[in-house]
Amino acid sequence: MAYQRIGIFGGGQLGRMMAQAALPLGVQCSFFEGQKDCPSATLGQVFLSDSQLNEFMQSADVFSLEFENTPLADVDILTQQHTLYPPRQALATAQNRLSEKALFDELNIPVAPYRAVSSEQELSQAVSDLGLPIVLKTAMGGYDGKGQFVLRDVADVGTAWAELGAAKSLIAESFVKFSREVSIIAVRGQDGEVRTWDLAENHHHHGILSHSIVPAPHSQDLQPVAEDYITRLLNHLNYVGVLTLELFVTEQGLYANEMAPRVHNSGHWSIEGAVCSQFENHIRAVAGLPLGSTETICPTVMVNIIGKHPQSDAVLALPATHLHLYGKSERAGRKLGHITISPKDAKQLTKICQQLANILPEPLALTADMTIDV
Ligand code: AMP
Repeated sequence: MAYQRIGIFGGGQLGRMMAQAALPLGVQCSFFEGQKDCPSATLGQVFLSDSQLNEFMQSADVFSLEFENTPLADVDILTQQHTLYPPRQALATAQNRLSEKALFDELNIPVAPYRAVSSEQELSQAVSDLGLPIVLKTAMGGYDGKGQFVLRDVADVGTAWAELGAAKSLIAESFVKFSREVSIIAVRGQDGEVRTWDLAENHHHHGILSHSIVPAPHSQDLQPVAEDYITRLLNHLNYVGVLTLELFVTEQGLYANEMAPRVHNSGHWSIEGAVCSQFENHIRAVAGLPLGSTETICPTVMVNIIGKHPQSDAVLALPATHLHLYGKSERAGRKLGHITISPKDAKQLTKICQQLANILPEPLALTADMTIDV
């Protein structure tokens, strides 16, 4: 039976783009969110997360999420009577870097050597076990590089602990010498069918995703390995919906960094660049509809709009370029929208990206002398 009403934990731009994909399928979304005027508000009813859980639970036939830090306490109340896709275990695992790494270990998905750390002494021990440099991260609550400290010297132990020790539960990871960062996104249907999109190569600026290139250049050998890893996770978790796995490319092969139990910023390219987008396939999976093709239509670059809006008319004057605004006000470091460049002739990608770099108001990892070699 196909569900026609989906309740979504969170109401940000990811929820908004899920609801945009749901509408033509006859599926209506509602949202559970802290702010009434959130980016999803124009697409469906918003229930306030501090007081309206009961009303939210009545508003839909099946539930999903776009916010990774959805409180498990709310999920536990909901799942007494209702179905949540992806399952609670996937959410709980992704909320804690130590559980996540333990799952990767269990499924033989390679990760950087790590130690659980809950005292300054254990941090010193991790430094002597793993060597330097080390990335110290809070086990819970960090995102976009927040809640992290890179230790390069034994003398950094005290400073790192003073900065992050209050979190009590931390993870110390060996610093991975990666050549680039990629992500694989996949969807699993209620019948267990798995489909994967092409790998995205991800570039960051001040810890925030700046742009993604798909297919990740020179990734033919990496694609089947990444597909194997994410399929292991999806099947083990009996997952339904879209899952993202972020990976480091190293001389020793792919190392998993973290997973996100949701649609992902590095998958926004798929709205124009793939036959069926991550948003539509997530809705199809959760609603119990057949999955669509994840095939790439043409090589695509997705560029985030961060902090300040560009001139829409200048962006839209570029060939093969699409603009997605999330209805948010300007603030430093805030994701306000994204731009997709998806020309039929991949040779045009470099030129259009260079032109775009000149138009965007914020300095980005996208530069006027960049080359895209897909
Ligand atoms: P995360 O919050 O785990 O996604 O980390 C944010 C960013 O920090 C990643 O995108 C990497 O660029 C960097 N990073 C995280 N963990 C490591 C590591 N173990 N070694 C090197 N760089 C890392």
